[in-house]
Amino acid sequence: MTANLLDYDLDGLAVFCDRLGEKRYRAVQLFRWIHQKGASNFDEMSDLAKSLREKLKISAQIKAPNLISQHISSDGTIKWLFDVGGGDAVETVFIPEEDRGTLCLSSQAGCAMGCRFCSTGHQGFSRNLKTGEIIAQLWFAEHFLRKHLQRDERIISNVVMMGMGEPLQNYSELVPALRAMLDDHGYGLSRRRVTVSTSGVVPMMDRLAQDCPVALAVSLHAPNDALRDDLVPLNKKYSLAELLNACNRYLAFAPRDFITFEYCMLQDVNDQPEHAQQLVSLVRHYSSGGVWCKFNLIPFNPFPASGLTRSVPERIQAFAKILSDAGIVTTIRKTRGDDIDAACGQLAGEVKDRTRVGERIARQRTFVLKPVSVISK
Ligand code: SAH
Ligand code: SF4
Repeated sequence: MTANLLDYDLDGLAVFCDRLGEKRYRAVQLFRWIHQKGASNFDEMSDLAKSLREKLKISAQIKAPNLISQHISSDGTIKWLFDVGGGDAVETVFIPEEDRGTLCLSSQAGCAMGCRFCSTGHQGFSRNLKTGEIIAQLWFAEHFLRKHLQRDERIISNVVMMGMGEPLQNYSELVPALRAMLDDHGYGLSRRRVTVSTSGVVPMMDRLAQDCPVALAVSLHAPNDALRDDLVPLNKKYSLAELLNACNRYLAFAPRDFITFEYCMLQDVNDQPEHAQQLVSLVRHYSSGGVWCKFNLIPFNPFPASGLTRSVPERIQAFAKILSDAGIVTTIRKTRGDDIDAACGQLAGEVKDRTRVGERIARQRTFVLKPVSVISK
């Protein structure tokens, strides 16, 4: 069977090279060709011995999921849909800003967590992505953007695991992908610029702290267990107390860091002043005085099946003020890519909708890339 080299972090690639009788520095060269130069073809790798290239052609490939479609928003946000086989598709979103370029990656096709306000959750779970399918989203986006913007330097400066899926439910495939992002021979991103977002898979938060302590965002969405049980069913397994204790343990491995709490603003559900006050007490209780978190309030992105609505702006402002007045850094997330459904929770990716994915793949033959120059500032 041919190995997909996108499935490996550098150590994994070194093991693979060792099996071919090649030294570690060959793995480093290969890794740089793949991730830094975006090579997908062994013949491009001019500084590798011809004999090695021939061996690689027989035993390996560099294979990313096929692109189904690309949508560019008027604000420069780009959404790509990738075919991951079996009728499943996943989405990746690029968000350009003045001082950074953020890529939002998917970790699963669908999600089993079933959060009430999330359209991915409503679709149910299809399968875990392989390491190669996770890192391929970055590999594709980075090299695609470099080519189309005709720039040689890095374009994506931040990665957030906030697309489809619960990353910590796909732990063993996630970690090598994170390592490739952080590796100086890969994408060289600092661990503070790579964020894993979780709905609160407590045991895996502890493992991530040990294995790869990147920035952590926790989807809180409610200040008490009764409400959180309803919105985020995983809360019935890991209560708020367990979750916040796990946040504290995480920070012990990530000194001088903070946790970002995401809080989706749902009209009349979790957006009243008393909810904000309860959050302040909760944070104070668990932080023993020193505040170690930030809040990111996300205006809910509605979809019909949820039966929920977005909090009005005044509610969100008032909520933010209560948190800020208590000394908690609070931001309100700007909605980006609204015109192309690229905002949080809208990444539904036509999972399990075999016909529609099939149709889109068929259309791919006539697929023409729009000029990406529109995303330049
Ligand atoms: N499964 C992970 C990461 C993916 S979701 C998690 O839940 O954290 C990324 C963020 O988008 C999470 O904070 C999630 O709660 C939020 N989100 C999901 N659906 C949303 C919606 N419809 N509107 C606004 N935010 C949403
Ligand atoms: Fe899954 Fe996150 Fe959506 Fe919950 S919010 S269903 S954990 S993707």
